[in-house]
Amino acid sequence: MKAVNSSVRATQLEGLAQSTTNIARAGAGRCVACGLCLPHCPTYRKTKFEAESPRGRIALILALDKGTLEPTPQFESHLSQCLLCRACESVCPAAVPFGDVMDAARAQLLTARPVSMMGKIGLHAVVLLTRNPWAASVAWILWCYQKSGLQSLLRKAGILRHLGLAEMDAEFSSPITPTRFASHYPAQGVRRGTVALFTGCVARLTDAPTLLASIRLLTRLGYDVRVPPQQTCCGALHRHAGDTRTADKLRHRNREAFDRDDIEAVITAASGCAATLMEYRGDGPASRIAAKITDISEFLEKIEWPRGISLRPLPKRIAVHDPCTLRNVMHATTAPYSLLRRIPQTEVVELPDNAFCCGAAGAYHLEHKAMARSLRHDKLDSLHRVTPDVLATSNPGCAMFLQAGLRQAGLTIEIVHPVTLLDRQLAPPAGN
Ligand code: SF4
Ligand code: SF4
Repeated sequence: MKAVNSSVRATQLEGLAQSTTNIARAGAGRCVACGLCLPHCPTYRKTKFEAESPRGRIALILALDKGTLEPTPQFESHLSQCLLCRACESVCPAAVPFGDVMDAARAQLLTARPVSMMGKIGLHAVVLLTRNPWAASVAWILWCYQKSGLQSLLRKAGILRHLGLAEMDAEFSSPITPTRFASHYPAQGVRRGTVALFTGCVARLTDAPTLLASIRLLTRLGYDVRVPPQQTCCGALHRHAGDTRTADKLRHRNREAFDRDDIEAVITAASGCAATLMEYRGDGPASRIAAKITDISEFLEKIEWPRGISLRPLPKRIAVHDPCTLRNVMHATTAPYSLLRRIPQTEVVELPDNAFCCGAAGAYHLEHKAMARSLRHDKLDSLHRVTPDVLATSNPGCAMFLQAGLRQAGLTIEIVHPVTLLDRQLAPPAGN
């Protein structure tokens, strides 16, 4: 790293001055450099390099803050290699809010080097996917691509590999279900309350079956489900890329969509989105929504199920993958296990080394392929050891990335959301 010299650009200096407030406000200075977080950090575990550890990254960020280091490409690389899995935050005795610190540092770096044009297009595209007509059109295009045989043809001819799109294609290997969500699904039987469902952006397209399973379960258990059409992307990708301006706009729009007194919980089926939504801060309505954010498994586990609802047996071994956001941000990992154990004859096991990130981490795996694949490789090893029939995970991003790995490794283990399994096993109402 080069020491700051007189040639530092004016924009960087201006940004550095602003970072002093934001990074300091975020709490980087609380780090006492004890190093207890190091063994829990996936990138440090892989590289054994201090600058790829939480402590090392905080030291770099503090140096940026003080103006003693220039944000060189190497500096930026150490920060961008961070998965934001927040395993470090969970074990830190000094309660360093690592997620906030990293977001502030990345926002600062963005003032010196704006997002590339491709990056901007990607971040815009995910927001468009939250709008019914756009999502439906893209879903139909992908559906035709899969059903027409074009996907198989391109795969067989090796064209996708040649274009460097094999990984992306493998991630979209699950059938796309074009779905247009209604804004209201009434409760079945005795009405017990009203909840809202957050549908997300990419998940709305690729994981519609999980969202529909959530709606079926919630209405069957007596809840009115509202799906506000004004809702939008949670903004996680934007915030983690340093684009706090867009992230704040999205937060504002979600605030308008979900701030209703009759909604007792805002249910999410994607822990990656939930973790962002529950950290909405600032104005009253935003923090009111944050307090209502509940993971679907947690909600279903917490409520009392009406009498007469039963689950059909499923004699299978189900391994459970804990997404980092569910583990380190929401602290809600137990619910998927206890819910799945309600299914008779099911063996539910924890995937070994669940505390380590699978490498998906939002859009991380598209940018840092080597690290992401190495982490995924460890998960595939764990799956080899456990040999489950099904892998259950509460985050569609992890599911897609792991599915691509399984496909490339020639393994046929189904990956589903816990709620999809529950919905499948739900016995029909008496008399049907
Ligand atoms: S555990 Fe916390 S205080 Fe210790 S080095 Fe890591 S971030 Fe710093
Ligand atoms: S967020 Fe994860 S990858 Fe980043 S420093 Fe912390 S433990 Fe390491």
